[in-house]
Amino acid sequence: MPNGSGFVRFLYNKFSDLLAEAMNPTDAQSYLGKIHSTHHQGNCKDACYECLKVFRNMNYHSLLDWRLGLSMMRILNDSTYKCGADGIFNQHVELNGWLEFATSLRKGFAESFGMRTVDVVQGLPIIKWHARDKNVILIVHPFWDMKNMREANWIAEIKNELGEYTRSRGGKLSIVDTFNLHRRPGWCYEKLVRNG
Ligand SMILES: [Zn+2]
Repeated sequence: MPNGSGFVRFLYNKFSDLLAEAMNPTDAQSYLGKIHSTHHQGNCKDACYECLKVFRNMNYHSLLDWRLGLSMMRILNDSTYKCGADGIFNQHVELNGWLEFATSLRKGFAESFGMRTVDVVQGLPIIKWHARDKNVILIVHPFWDMKNMREANWIAEIKNELGEYTRSRGGKLSIVDTFNLHRRPGWCYEKLVRNG
């Protein structure tokens, strides 16, 4: 009905079909099909008027992100999905190009704040800074739980390796995700560098 009643029941009854359609749209010309299109992937870093932005959600525009939305739905739809934590970035539309995106954010951040040593560890972009490059900033996906690592995977290896590196120099390892780095680099700088 126009006032919205019935939507929840419809969602409840059709939830798995709707999720499947959101993951793999059957019609390339539909709203979902257009979100998945290579044109949209190439032109929309977070949200635009083709996907999530409308006038009424203007207050939230800076928070919207179609890739994270799709990742969230895929988590509900597929229990084996690891959102890149398995090192797979080329099998899901929302993760295509994430490493490149993270690397370009790293470049902008390092340049803005005069940090000259940038590097890559097993594919993940990092910044080294301060005397003897003793501190490290590691850039990760916002859905990765970096505090409670439950698997001895490649990300845990990177974290351990960088932890050892910074400890041996009396420095610190900071972790920042691309959601924050993209939206509020100044806040990241305050948090990571100024306030430690
Ligand atoms: Zn968009």
